[in-house]
Amino acid sequence: MSKTMKKLAILGSTGSIGRQTLEVISEHPAELEVVALSAGSNIDLLEKQIRAYRPAVAVVMEPGLAEELRRRLHGWPVEVWFGMEGLKKIASLPEVDTVVSALSGVIGLEPTWAAVRAGKVVALANKETLVAAGELVMREASNRGTKILPVDSEHSAIFQCLRNETAFLRKILLTASGGPFRTWPAEQLSSVTPAMALRHPNWVMGKKITIDSATLMNKGLEVIEARWLFGVDFDQIEVVIHPQSIIHSMVELADGAILAHLGIPDMRIPIQYALSYPERWPNSLPRLELAALRQLTFHHPDYARFPCLALAYSAGRIGGTLPAVMNAANEVAVELFLSQKIGFLDIPRLVEEVMQKHTVHNSPDLEDILAADRWARFWTYKLASK
Ligand code: NDP
Ligand code: MG
Repeated sequence: MSKTMKKLAILGSTGSIGRQTLEVISEHPAELEVVALSAGSNIDLLEKQIRAYRPAVAVVMEPGLAEELRRRLHGWPVEVWFGMEGLKKIASLPEVDTVVSALSGVIGLEPTWAAVRAGKVVALANKETLVAAGELVMREASNRGTKILPVDSEHSAIFQCLRNETAFLRKILLTASGGPFRTWPAEQLSSVTPAMALRHPNWVMGKKITIDSATLMNKGLEVIEARWLFGVDFDQIEVVIHPQSIIHSMVELADGAILAHLGIPDMRIPIQYALSYPERWPNSLPRLELAALRQLTFHHPDYARFPCLALAYSAGRIGGTLPAVMNAANEVAVELFLSQKIGFLDIPRLVEEVMQKHTVHNSPDLEDILAADRWARFWTYKLASK
């Protein structure tokens, strides 16, 4: 066994990040071992993953699914648990040292919190955790002396640029592709359908984050994520549209030097870095060929066409329970948009209405945040059905 062998629990192993995490593990079997996996409802894929990666425990969302999976895996050495309790348990198993947090949405908050409380290193893809409860989670991680290592490509880039420069940081330049509607005129955005919004130009991802990328809410969530991961003010975070997604983000330092992190747009690179940290491991991924890039371009975001970005800055600046409320309203609005109950421009409209209705609680604990999340979900459904 290599001295760097890490024992992992993957929350959301059947998702886009979860599947790519398993690919990284397949390439580094001497360094990484799977102790626990979890799915929501895709038990066909989870069963295959269990047979291939041999975790000691697997978790699914519902007891009925757990029953079915146990029946299929009769005689196989795996325990099958279910629900939020199951997720929290695998996030804090004594034999796990690193938890890959890759659920989609604020459903990831409680298991990630459990991982931090148990002193696990967290490889964090689930940005909604830091949006809803960044202050609490970062404080707890610091109290427990554990690390939160970013998986989100921009934050991984910033984290790498800052390895020796934190003291000199002036500004974070958070890059954004601009999404599929970057060049669309405002009046056409009302006709955007789920199928159109699900075609992202540079990345293949889960549905929720793909819609967030089309509204630019994803970048808004990432601004708040960056504020907590790197301990900067919102004034120090600037979003730069960079359609090619080759520069994954940049930092500007005290002397005006800008450090950038470049690479092909492939999530296996930041996933691997979060797992290899503080080392770097070789891999078989394609390399960036600079001469093949015709150009790299940059421009300012258009806050008028993409109001979600401004809503996120505003929620982040006000703080307290407001970012959790914004996030919950957005999750519900995205779900309603995907099921064609509301239009594309109703997403920012509903998020803004729910934010305006909310009385902010200024120093919330986890319970207050979860209550604000439930409150916002209730009101988003209600306002959408008017
Ligand atoms: P996916 O939708 O592809 O995967 C989500 C995972 O969570 C699946 O395993 C799903 O299970 C599981 N899940 C969903 N709901 C529940 C639930 N109620 N209970 C238990 N499990 C549940 O999402 P992504 O992988 O795209 O994204 C994951 C996180 O990573 C998000 O926070 C996203 O913002 C972030 N991220 C993703 C990137 C990407 O390239 N995909 C890039 C950067 C960040 P099942 O499918 O079995 O139901
Ligand atoms: Mg990102």
